[in-house]
Amino acid sequence: MRNLLPRIKSDMITCIKDKIKNLNVVIGCPIGCRYCYARNNCRRFHITDDFHKPEFFERKLRLFDSKRPKVFLLTGMSDFAYWQPDWTEKVFEKAAATPQNTYLFLTKRPERLHIRTDLDNLWFGVTVTCAAERERIGILKQNVRAKHYHATFEPLSDEVGEVDFTGIEWVVLGTETGNCKDKTPSQKPWIDGLAAQAQRKNIPVFMKEDLFFAGIVPESLMIQKFPKEFDL
Ligand code: SF4
Repeated sequence: MRNLLPRIKSDMITCIKDKIKNLNVVIGCPIGCRYCYARNNCRRFHITDDFHKPEFFERKLRLFDSKRPKVFLLTGMSDFAYWQPDWTEKVFEKAAATPQNTYLFLTKRPERLHIRTDLDNLWFGVTVTCAAERERIGILKQNVRAKHYHATFEPLSDEVGEVDFTGIEWVVLGTETGNCKDKTPSQKPWIDGLAAQAQRKNIPVFMKEDLFFAGIVPESLMIQKFPKEFDL
């Protein structure tokens, strides 16, 4: 999420992109979220002709060949549920050949997915933005049979409430940024509630830097943990 907030300096706050690299092997998404920064960037820099039609950039698979272990988010400009099956197959093949890396996928449409994999370096997640979307977590686990799951709560438009975190190994919390007039910043009690639930289950929680920069969570209360498997 692009951050247009004035930067408060802090050596204590980790920016998630410094640890987890975006590798956009697919660009484009038909979902049409109001706050989509990827669509704006795609149009601004003319990356593809039509953001609503996902395109596969197969040549980027060579970037998986890093010797140093890295953690990549592969869906920074797409939604995994709209990848074509042959793209997924090629990406999984390459991920199998590069076990030193960890690959993260996110979706808002887990009902479209039907995946089975026993690869240990693939992590599948859903984005939840409000209470009505909590069921996405269960649907993901039903439809994607995999070793690792995560959940991202960003941007939040209301209090999510009680979440079934069974099987979830990483929880990311954030807020809407940018200067959109309909912006709905996360509220601290919503963030606190989700963080507390995850921590009760010993799930690592990562509060994204924007929660601090937007003045929602003070530095002393920022929690920024990664799963031990990421080895960061
Ligand atoms: S799901 Fe993600 S990529 Fe798709 S429109 Fe929404 S924010 Fe953009």
